[in-house]
Amino acid sequence: MPTSGEEVGEHGEGQSRFYAPGAELKKYSEHIAQKYDLRRRMRFNSVVLGARWDEDDEYWIVSIADSESITARYILTATDFLSQPRMPDISGIETFAGMIIHTTKWDYSYDLTNRQVAVIGTGATAVQLIPRSHRNWPNSRSTIVRRSG
Ligand SMILES: Cc1cc2nc3c(=O)[nH]c(=O)nc-3n(C[C@H](O)[C@H](O)[C@H](O)COP(=O)(O)OP(=O)(O)OC[C@H]3O[C@@H](n4cnc5c(N)ncnc54)[C@H](O)[C@@H]3O)c2cc1C
Repeated sequence: MPTSGEEVGEHGEGQSRFYAPGAELKKYSEHIAQKYDLRRRMRFNSVVLGARWDEDDEYWIVSIADSESITARYILTATDFLSQPRMPDISGIETFAGMIIHTTKWDYSYDLTNRQVAVIGTGATAVQLIPRSHRNWPNSRSTIVRRSG
């Protein structure tokens, strides 16, 4: 069964699993970027601050932080709405003395081995996170917290 991005077809055929793991998806993206020479058109670490339509010349002027603006006739936004972590409205969370990790912004440098961990929520992300927790965080003691029974 193919497991490397090079072996996965243009439309994802041949991936190792129906829900391919993140590392495989990343490899696939890199493969496509290389194949179509897309990197030279990419700008990394660039935050779009706004866009203004120029009525006279009929193009967008897109302003980018710490960089010159760019102009474009069309804009496709692919900014999603889940890319920014939003902390839950839990009373006292701002004074919690322990480590808080939001799944949108996972801190890979923090080792949860031997830690006492409370996972808040049992949605789609938790369903992926919890089953792997004992393998990824040996000897940790996890408590799963959910809103309804
Ligand atoms: C913790 C978590 C778990 C998830 N699990 C699953 C799952 O198991 N299955 C599933 O199908 N979906 C899952 N999702 C949802 C999935 O990740 C999103 O639906 C998907 O990534 C959307 O893809 P996208 O390309 O539209 O946006 P994203 O992948 O979010 O990409 C948006 C990009 O836009 C960039 N951006 C935003 N604003 C600006 C700006 N002003 N200037 C420049 N760049 C900007 C961001 O930095 C980011 O790189 C999960 C999401 C989260 C947060």
